Amino acid sequence: MLARFGARAMAALWAGKLTAGLSRGLRRGGGTTLPGDVSRWVDPRILTTLTRSLDQGAVVVTGTNGKTTTAALLRHILEAQGRRTVANQAGANLIFGVTAALVNRASWSGGLDANVGLFEIDEASLPRLVQEIAPGTIIVTNLFRDQLDRYGELETTAAHIRRALTQGPEGVTAVLNADDPMVAALGDGLPRVVYAGLDDPSLLQPELSHGADAKFCPRCGSAFVFEGVYFGHVGHYHCPRGDFARPSPDVRASSVAIEGMERMRLRISDGAHETGFDVPLSGLYNAYNVVLAVAAAQAMGVSIASSAAALRNFTPAFGRMEHTVVDGRPAVLLLAKNPTGFNEVLRTAIQFGKARSFLIALNDRIADGRDVSWIWDVDFEQLKDVAGHIVVSGDRALDLRVRLKYAEIPDDRIEVVSDWRLALRRASEATADGQTIFVLPTYTAMLELRAVLTRDGALQPYWKGRPVDAKP
Ligand SMILES: [Zn+2]
Repeated sequence: MLARFGARAMAALWAGKLTAGLSRGLRRGGGTTLPGDVSRWVDPRILTTLTRSLDQGAVVVTGTNGKTTTAALLRHILEAQGRRTVANQAGANLIFGVTAALVNRASWSGGLDANVGLFEIDEASLPRLVQEIAPGTIIVTNLFRDQLDRYGELETTAAHIRRALTQGPEGVTAVLNADDPMVAALGDGLPRVVYAGLDDPSLLQPELSHGADAKFCPRCGSAFVFEGVYFGHVGHYHCPRGDFARPSPDVRASSVAIEGMERMRLRISDGAHETGFDVPLSGLYNAYNVVLAVAAAQAMGVSIASSAAALRNFTPAFGRMEHTVVDGRPAVLLLAKNPTGFNEVLRTAIQFGKARSFLIALNDRIADGRDVSWIWDVDFEQLKDVAGHIVVSGDRALDLRVRLKYAEIPDDRIEVVSDWRLALRRASEATADGQTIFVLPTYTAMLELRAVLTRDGALQPYWKGRPVDAKP
């Protein structure tokens, strides 16, 4: 569909597209956000103009962990229904990244060959994005302390989201994780809320792990009573004074069975129908991403059965349980960027992947968080009895080695290798036949490791993995 374009919008679009072409020519990583900056500088309303031509509107995904995978799952479901989607790239989750995705996808005349926009956005950028694009659906995955705001207020983040939800367009549907107390509380008083959660009591563990957030009732401040948690502070809870409790999920996974690192089986119900799912992902945290994506799809008119059929052949987003081969050994890439994410990735690798060989990479660039003290909140003690060889790498490999020593992992099982290529080779050499290498990098470490694997021909460059500018 063609939006009504003024001269200024057209100039903004052309400026953005020329910038994208130029930065691709210079091999600057696919030009992820720069075209967005340039376009918005020429016409600050360009994003609003472009999204107006999406006849099925836009969906926004926010939260601390799981944005990329939830967005990718929903995209996969919608495309299986014949809907044409436009999405921002993983990691480009500021308003410039969203603008760049639309500028790249639009034709030079302003036409947009897509029905629906699907954007992951960080929590602080959400209110502005909602103002500019008026999404029909907003998904909130979970709220944990992130590495970037370790000492910041989780409440501030929740307030950003709450503002976006209450000031959003008429008719916006909030799809919320019922099992995360702070996320569930966001739905208070909103006209259209769909709660999604897990209802498999066999997987509940006693609360609470150290470093857990959001233990307190948003109404009266009392400490929640947890019947049990799936991980972190995510589980089944109620306020002892009776003024707040976990909402009963509208869309629930009544059973989750994880089979190794390759797939999981779920039964998902909307109260009326229950459907079996078979999804090529592992880990309880991914069960949440699935049930949230399915709930959002249902709110957009896709039956649960259709979602189940679509997700059988889902391909994980880049760096999120991506399977590859490193120097002849099978390997899995598992992005791990904050304590809760790291703990769940470790637990999944150990419990379901029978992991013994690890490459753990810690960077401290802006996107990783400059302060790496969050690694002391990661439960590396999980590795003590299982890990064979651990290669540590990245800008802060030495900090990581100290942390692992405090986890009582013997020195002779830890090897510091600073060069990425060499780190991969050493991890491969130290891995026994029949074993898999588990690669756990922070965000920029993942980009650098992926670049090496791409040069090797083991992986596709990330901007080819999920095309934003190619015509389908
Ligand atoms: Zn209370």
